[in-house]
Amino acid sequence: MRIHWQNERLGVVEGDITRFDGDAIVNAANATLLGGGGVDGAIHRAAGPALREACRQLRQRAWPEGLPVGQVALTPGFALPADWVIHTVGPVYARGEDRAGLLADCYRRALAMAAERDFRRLAFPAISTGVYGYPAEAAARIVADVMREALPRLPRLEVTLVFYAAADAETFLQHAEIDGVR
Ligand code: ADP
Repeated sequence: MRIHWQNERLGVVEGDITRFDGDAIVNAANATLLGGGGVDGAIHRAAGPALREACRQLRQRAWPEGLPVGQVALTPGFALPADWVIHTVGPVYARGEDRAGLLADCYRRALAMAAERDFRRLAFPAISTGVYGYPAEAAARIVADVMREALPRLPRLEVTLVFYAAADAETFLQHAEIDGVR
């Protein structure tokens, strides 16, 4: 993974999140938890069929109606290098409605779950910015705001934001006002 920017607490890298070797990666799942395209599909392929089975059981036991937008659910990482996967469902972008709070909830709740479990190294993909259509620039500002607010209170956690393409990492850095995070 190529590092575009980092300090002690936060890194912005380009690469494949399924290769992240830390305590947990966040999955931009869909409400069914049964796998989909994009980063979700990549995570399921790399984790192996046991992840689908764990997600199926989660659905049955905890989320029979599906995982609501902005909520998080935890499974092991199975064949992934990361030990755990925090699944979250980002909002679908809508022009006429401000869903920034829901996107922020995904990041905040994943951070809270990581802290609760005493995870030290956590990676996020750019939730909602693929098929769900959230503009990368707006998402960048939301993510930076959450990190700026949450990281000072989570001193043991190191967060890596993983972008699939170099251009996406650079777009994030241009719009995130990352100086405030330092
Ligand atoms: P969503 O449905 O939440 O929009 P997507 O998976 O369609 O989720 O896209 C979210 C982001 O994840 C996009 O920026 C996409 O380029 C990126 N992405 C896709 N595959 C990977 C991967 N293997 N590692 C990291 N990011 C990925």
